[in-house]
Amino acid sequence: MNGAILVLSGPSGAGKSSLIKKVEDKIGAFYFSISTTTRPIREGEIDGVHYHFVNQEEFKQDIKDEHFLEYALVHGNYYGTSIKPVKQALKKGEIVIFDIDVQGHDAVQNRLGDITTSVFITTPSLKELKHRLSSRGTDTQDVIDARIEMATREVQRISEYDYLVINDDLDIAATQLVSIAQASRLKLPSMEISEFIYAWEADA
Ligand code: 5GP
Repeated sequence: MNGAILVLSGPSGAGKSSLIKKVEDKIGAFYFSISTTTRPIREGEIDGVHYHFVNQEEFKQDIKDEHFLEYALVHGNYYGTSIKPVKQALKKGEIVIFDIDVQGHDAVQNRLGDITTSVFITTPSLKELKHRLSSRGTDTQDVIDARIEMATREVQRISEYDYLVINDDLDIAATQLVSIAQASRLKLPSMEISEFIYAWEADA
């Protein structure tokens, strides 16, 4: 069985984490890619579970050592996806789920577009996003403003994604995401399509 990549992007506050939690027992074997970041740890987050939290120096060393499949500067902090665990998960036939921004999506499409399915997840409106970010109570107003500014830029790039999920009703959005994840497993790299046709014709 082949592995597949499922990229999830969308504004912070759109509910990506809640959605992932909701679908995780319904999509078969998967590996959630734990990114490395230089951003300060938030209350309730655990190092090695939500992110690998490192300082700038360590992050820059990882860049030099070419440990990242992609990395980007988001809200003034570095975020990166390590290559090694992704390769291992793909080999095992798992769906590798990335929660990365539009820059990360661009890089993954360029390097592994053949096996990548992408989903942009957002709130029904900017007003709802503002409401969710303020009521989350984890960020200062400056951070919230930066996230809103970034969100308005990111939504301009929705057309670069395969699917759009509007997270209004969590149950409906989760059902949609399960369908997309299942379909992502059936996406074949072009090389394997040729192999399949060859084998199909050979068995005449
Ligand atoms: P947060 O600080 O809210 O956890 O994440 C901020 C943004 O960084 C989100 O849009 C998230 O998708 C993005 N992000 C998290 N990890 C990565 C990564 O490894 N690479 C890239 N390009 N973006 C990431």
